[in-house]
Amino acid sequence: MMSTINFLDLHAGYAELRPEIESAIYRVFNSGRYVGGDEVAAFEAEWASYCGAAHCVGTGNGLDALILALRACDIGPGDGVIVPSNTYIATWLAVSAVGAIIQPVEPDPVTYNIDPSRIGAAITPETRAIMPVHLYGQPADLDPILALARAHDLRVIEDAAQAHGARYKGRRIGAHGDAVCWSFYPGKNLGAMGDAGAVTTNDPEIAARVRRLGNYGSDRKYVNVERGVNSRLDPLQATILRVKLAHLDEWTERRRLLASAYMDSLADTGLTLPQVPEWAEPVWHLYVVRSSERDALQGCLAGAGVGTLIHYPIPPHMQEAYADLHLAPDAFPLAQQLAGEVLSLPMGPHLSPEAAQQVQKALA
Ligand SMILES: *Cc1c(COP(=O)(O)O)cnc(C)c1O
Repeated sequence: MMSTINFLDLHAGYAELRPEIESAIYRVFNSGRYVGGDEVAAFEAEWASYCGAAHCVGTGNGLDALILALRACDIGPGDGVIVPSNTYIATWLAVSAVGAIIQPVEPDPVTYNIDPSRIGAAITPETRAIMPVHLYGQPADLDPILALARAHDLRVIEDAAQAHGARYKGRRIGAHGDAVCWSFYPGKNLGAMGDAGAVTTNDPEIAARVRRLGNYGSDRKYVNVERGVNSRLDPLQATILRVKLAHLDEWTERRRLLASAYMDSLADTGLTLPQVPEWAEPVWHLYVVRSSERDALQGCLAGAGVGTLIHYPIPPHMQEAYADLHLAPDAFPLAQQLAGEVLSLPMGPHLSPEAAQQVQKALA
């Protein structure tokens, strides 16, 4: 009798690190400092250093990191922002939140990330920024994007919510573009125990502006120089993230082992497996396969006790939230097709590579 494989077991992460996490949170309880403070500053310094960025500013969550990075780059009403047609809707929502115009570009059908060769045609006089997403933990092809941005005087704001530790041409994601936005939502590769986010950047002005915007538009108490919001990294989350950061590379390695076990076990199943360009070192936030019989495949795996999810079943352009754009399904046919074919297999640091054999058996 085969055991059940959950899609993702978040409690296992706590169980593994329980003594460290508990002593960290009691340190915060006993500090008497419950907003900002040393734990937040220490995590920001450690995350900046891990990412190879000069600055890190914590935020309340990943969506706010995207919104504050756009605002810090002065992107607002009337400005255009190039986004992937194939992404989690948060990327689009951030652009909408600052009143800017969404300019979607279709994915490369092999990597599912934004196709740099299609970006040029989407640039208009309004375009001010490109927002690549490192989807599923696989870095987007940044060099041609950065070259286009230089040629057209555009900002590059990366959505790295799924790419903690991923490398592009040997260098970690974190400071290739003007600003890099992170989510530490519990299910991400580096996950808090609640909501949390951050922006990393090499630009001191962007860092200072994100910090000010997330703190009521204030650098000095009771002096408000612009209309900010309250979106700060919570010290309890910061201290938990510090504990988990020390284990991130080991946990990423476990994901890599499971991904390579899937590659071997599923090679002859007829499924389309992930492909990794030679310049990419992905971190396997998700292990996504494709099938024209996706729903049957998901049912078959469920019957064998294998939990799967779909990332994402409805592309942003087909969401009711964007009905006012009046986009037909085939306005972005690749994004539409992927939504009908992708399936995420169980993936996480607490699954053993044997899970891959169980998936293979279920499909046999
Ligand atoms: C998770 C995620 C976000 C949003 O992060 P939150 O912390 O949940 O606000 C943004 N973009 C992508 C690609 C994500 O996966």
